[in-house]
Amino acid sequence: PASLNRPEPRPGVMAVDLYVPGKSGRPGPGKVYKLSSNETPLGPSPAAVAALHDATTKLETYPDGQATVLRTAIGKRFGLDPARIVCGAGSDELLSLLAYAYCGPGAEGIYSEHGFLVYRIAILASGGTPVVAPERDLTADVDAILARVTERTRIVYVTNPNNPTGTYLPFDEIRRLHAALPPHVLLVIDGAYAEYVKANDYTAGLELALEAENVVMTRTFSKIYGLAAVRIGWMLAPAHVADAVNRIRGPFNMSSLAIAAGAAAIADEGHMAAAAAHNAEWLPKLTEGARALGLTVTPSVANFVLIHFPDEPGRSAADADAFLTERGLITRRVTAYGLPNALRVTVAGAEANEAFLAALGDFVRGAR
Ligand code: PMP
Repeated sequence: PASLNRPEPRPGVMAVDLYVPGKSGRPGPGKVYKLSSNETPLGPSPAAVAALHDATTKLETYPDGQATVLRTAIGKRFGLDPARIVCGAGSDELLSLLAYAYCGPGAEGIYSEHGFLVYRIAILASGGTPVVAPERDLTADVDAILARVTERTRIVYVTNPNNPTGTYLPFDEIRRLHAALPPHVLLVIDGAYAEYVKANDYTAGLELALEAENVVMTRTFSKIYGLAAVRIGWMLAPAHVADAVNRIRGPFNMSSLAIAAGAAAIADEGHMAAAAAHNAEWLPKLTEGARALGLTVTPSVANFVLIHFPDEPGRSAADADAFLTERGLITRRVTAYGLPNALRVTVAGAEANEAFLAALGDFVRGAR
């Protein structure tokens, strides 16, 4: 060991950069609008809140370690076998458990250049080596991913739609990637934003996870279901993958509150449809509003947009961030994702969206 004077983490651990969440506010008085964490402005289903409250009457009892009620509700909603569903404390937990189970020392995990930071953290934490595939037009590039597959590759993460770019891979491309991967490589399709996609060449990936022995799709209740605080994620996996992850997860990783709230949320299809409709109305308005100001906006299918700023003093993303924050508009800088000249902006409520577009206009005009 490097030091005998104190415990040393095993190799890889200290190579992990701490995940820094987006700002959630700013000091000082005045109204604050949070457009930084891709949360839904509609909040959770009232039925989910009621179920969560009901669950607080039994806090002294352990939850069901199999989260049966939740897996059954998810299975019913999507027509899936609950035995192939595993739930996690947010999809973050599942993304990590998959790396712990399938990557590890001597193995490599691949993800895309502007992919979600948790993949790198999970691969390193497993003791494995992260391998980054460049993107094309801010979109995952199947050929670049395949070019990085070696005999040590064990896991490939693809976010679809991608965060923070909002772009997606058509299903044909996902199929092409899967067809060319060696069968021992686990393909993880992270569908955190799947419910927002309207494009008809996108299918959720559940289809592929149902038929292939090496494909998993992860989903979350943190976005369209508005339950980020409760930490609920799930995945559809082949039985042998579900078995492996069930062995290494915490035996009671889902609280009773999470199980109850998730089951009620997924049954409330009307609430989800309302959240999707709100997004469908505002995503183009935010995109076109920023474009009308002369800014470049990456076409998004998710509940956020990536807005690009000129790399010039006074007009940069850092300047825009400072200006907007001063106005109480909190957006996400994405420098840690390799995008120093862009801001990621969540589709928020009508008032917040309008306040954002107005402030963005003031910034662009004032900065010129
Ligand atoms: N995947 C992607 C692409 C995300 O953007 C997020 C949330 N930031 C997650 C997974 C994790 O979400 P959660 O752990 O809340 O389910």
